[in-house]
Amino acid sequence: MTRRKSKKEAEAATRFREQRIEKLMRLGWIKDASEIPASAIPVDPDLVSFGSEWSPHPVFFRDQTFLCQDCGAVCVWAAADQCWYYETTKAPSCKVAVRCRECRRIERDRIREARRRAGHDPEGT
Ligand SMILES: [Zn+2]
Repeated sequence: MTRRKSKKEAEAATRFREQRIEKLMRLGWIKDASEIPASAIPVDPDLVSFGSEWSPHPVFFRDQTFLCQDCGAVCVWAAADQCWYYETTKAPSCKVAVRCRECRRIERDRIREARRRAGHDPEGT
């Protein structure tokens, strides 16, 4: 993560950020660019599907600290991961990270195993 960005990458990142901030202002989600912290990723209003139940909805994603509900470890839900989660997977606003990476893997394996036992194994083993 400490890799230095090339000038081109840095410019692309700045443009990405500016375009999102412009859109947020145009749509009235924010009044001023200063409402988005430098460390945060501005939300793209066209990509998220925040329900009306999440009000006021966020206008940016920022690293969030939470406790894993399974092992209690202090975890960070990175802004970039939230961005992917809400914008790419269109996750509903009620869904947030509750488990650390390791517990997520264990939970995924547990569900896969339960499905297999129930006869829903896609590989048919
Ligand atoms: Zn955990």
